[in-house]
Amino acid sequence: MSSFVGRRKKLRDLIREANADALLVTNFTNVTYLTGFTGDDSYLLVTLDGETLITDPRYTTQLEEEYPGLALEIREPGVKMLTAVVKVLTAVRPARLGLEGNSATIAFERALAKEFPKTEIVATDGLVERLRLVKDKTEVDATRVACTQAKRAYDVVRASLTGSMTELEVAAELEYRARRFGATSLSFPAIVATGPRSALPHARPTNRKLGESDFTLIDWGVNSGLYMSDLTRIIVTGRISPKLRKIYEIVLKAQLAAIDAIRPGRTCEQVDSVARRIITKAGYGKAFGHGLGHGTGLEIHEAPRLAVGQETKLQPGMIVTVEPGIYVPGWGGVRIEDDVLVTRTGHEVLTDVPKQLEDCVLAS
Ligand code: ZN
Ligand code: ZN
Repeated sequence: MSSFVGRRKKLRDLIREANADALLVTNFTNVTYLTGFTGDDSYLLVTLDGETLITDPRYTTQLEEEYPGLALEIREPGVKMLTAVVKVLTAVRPARLGLEGNSATIAFERALAKEFPKTEIVATDGLVERLRLVKDKTEVDATRVACTQAKRAYDVVRASLTGSMTELEVAAELEYRARRFGATSLSFPAIVATGPRSALPHARPTNRKLGESDFTLIDWGVNSGLYMSDLTRIIVTGRISPKLRKIYEIVLKAQLAAIDAIRPGRTCEQVDSVARRIITKAGYGKAFGHGLGHGTGLEIHEAPRLAVGQETKLQPGMIVTVEPGIYVPGWGGVRIEDDVLVTRTGHEVLTDVPKQLEDCVLAS
């Protein structure tokens, strides 16, 4: 059984649990998860005994080749998505139809209600997302590839870095190298932030030169096709000031302790609190203003979130980032980020880029 068939089978159980006879999947990423099909503008109707992909003619050839078993409703040019959905639903006539509450619009729901007055339409809450929480082997393998490609790109870029390169140039090099190593793209525009700019957790690269500051924060990741990686490292281009050493060691200690705490049964909040306690005890609690980490997968930020108030329990197959940081306005920020797989007995760190402070010093 292909992994997609298995996923749709699991989804049927959730549709039954939600007391519905069908779910119209309107979130394109969820459609990809359930079919492997990556074209956008496509919906998937999943009933208790089948499924139909509603798509347009741009994709017909691709679909017939790649997914011979999938029932298709091809929307001819000029035919609205709603019209195609109505056609498919007319053949099925579910008594209770689930819509994805986080994706379908109110206008769409009202239009369907008008067409099918006898159908009860229910808003479902993250049914497919619940399945996406735990990765199967195919997904873990694809994430491993994304992690390796990210490391290889970084290694090459790092070996050729000089203080006269700008943040923008480093970001461009990372993307180019990642693609040369087989990545489809970066997971997100790389953050390359020198000195004080690294205090902004989502800094955009500028024309500042690396040599203008003592250190640079690089946050990058790679999309290996469908699955993503996400890492952060510091590169020291100047001297290691006592302050940099102190803050770096606190962040590293917090990150290693949090990774160590990852195992099935722990809640996301518990893992976050391991890092938060260390940073708070060192006097920088207020300078760690974001959650400890997030899931990665088809999207760069997905469930679960390692953060205060998140009671989700970790399960084998979840993949999360662990990325504590300390940000001091005007001085800079230190964040260290790795991707971690929850295993049956504990965890496995999927990213493998050295992170002791001495490893981060650019040899001059
Ligand atoms: Zn990141
Ligand atoms: Zn991240």
